Amino acid sequence: MADIDALLADLVTASRILAHEGICDAFGHISVRNPDDPSRFFLARAIAPELVTRDDILQFELDGTAVDDDRKPFLERFIHGTLMQARPDIQSVVHSHSRGVIPFGVTGTPIRPLLHSCGVLGTDVPVWDANDAFGDTNLLISSNEMGADFARTLGGARAALMRGHGSTVVGRSIREAVYSAVYLDVNAQLQAAAMQIGTVKYLTDGEISLIQSRLADAKPDEGYDRAWQYWARRADASRA
Ligand code: MN
Repeated sequence: MADIDALLADLVTASRILAHEGICDAFGHISVRNPDDPSRFFLARAIAPELVTRDDILQFELDGTAVDDDRKPFLERFIHGTLMQARPDIQSVVHSHSRGVIPFGVTGTPIRPLLHSCGVLGTDVPVWDANDAFGDTNLLISSNEMGADFARTLGGARAALMRGHGSTVVGRSIREAVYSAVYLDVNAQLQAAAMQIGTVKYLTDGEISLIQSRLADAKPDEGYDRAWQYWARRADASRA
C-alpha cells in the first residue's frame, strides 16, 4: 500500500507552489492518480490553489464522478481523468491559465524549448482549439467528450496549450508535473522576449534527449527534488 497521507501532503504543497510561482491564480488545479487504484485520482474541491488544505481533497473516478463526496468539484475535473485514461504513464496533471503561454495558443507560433531547464517539455507542445470540434463554447473542458478530444491533441506530449484559455501539463510524478508547468511558462516568457531580439536558436532534438536522460537518472535531492525543495520553502515562507 502506498503512503497516501504523504502523497496528499505533496498535493497540497504542489497547489501552494503553483500559486506562489504564478502558474495558478484564483484558478487552476493539480491532481494525482491513486497509486493503490489507478482508476481513481485525487483533486481538490473547487477552491483557489493557494487555499487548498488536506481536508479539501476529494477522490474521483476517471469519468469525473466524485467518490462519496457532494462538495462542489472543479468544472474542469474532466481534464484530469480523461488524460489519465488515455495515458497510463500519467500520474499527475496540472491545468492552469499561466499567462506566459497564452500568446502562443492564439498565434500559431509554437512553443519550443530554448533553455536547458525547459528541455523537459520535449520537442512538441501542441495546441488544442475547442472550436475545432465543438464550435463556440465558453472554452472550458466541461465534459468527458471535450477531455477525450484534448487528450488526442496532447498525444504523447508533456504539455499542450488550449487556445484562448491556458495549458495542461502532465507528469509521471507530482514533482515532474510541477517542474514542467513552471518551466513551460518560463520558456514561453523567454521565447517571446528572444523573438523580439532576433532569430531564436532552439534546443536541438539531441540536446532535449540528453537533458531528459539526465533528469531520468537524477538521484534523490537532485533534479525535480531540488527544484521542489526550493519552491516548497518559498511557498511556506510566503505564509509566515
Ligand atoms: Mn481552465
